Amino acid sequence: MDCIFCKLVKGELPADILYQDDEVMAFRDIDPKAPHHFLVIPKRHIATLNDLTPEDAALVGRLQVTAAQLAKEYGFDESGYRVVMNCNQDGGQTVWHIHMHVLAGRTLSWPPG
Ligand code: IMP
Repeated sequence: MDCIFCKLVKGELPADILYQDDEVMAFRDIDPKAPHHFLVIPKRHIATLNDLTPEDAALVGRLQVTAAQLAKEYGFDESGYRVVMNCNQDGGQTVWHIHMHVLAGRTLSWPPG
């Protein structure tokens, strides 16, 4: 399967990994949009949010818990941060392996473009 995030998971491409366990990996975004910008992904390939099933609920929860733990670890939990998951073209998705963006370190505007 030609999925760039699967290649990061397998170690076939380099990644600046912040956290990983058996199911979840977090790494810095290669093109950061904020002073802190990292992605939290499931290690298992899931192409879009539309492909989630009820059995994936705990896994998606682990993505969010990982994001919150890293926010504490990197010290922006109190100042604040944004979590975003883009779905398909209109949502701005460019990599078809679900990922949670975590952005912090500056005041983020709302609504997003
Ligand atoms: P999307 O537009 O929501 O799908 O976000 C994909 C993100 O993956 C973008 O912010 C990219 O900069 C990021 N990205 C793409 N390739 C890599 C990589 O090899 N390492 C880290 N981040 C990547």
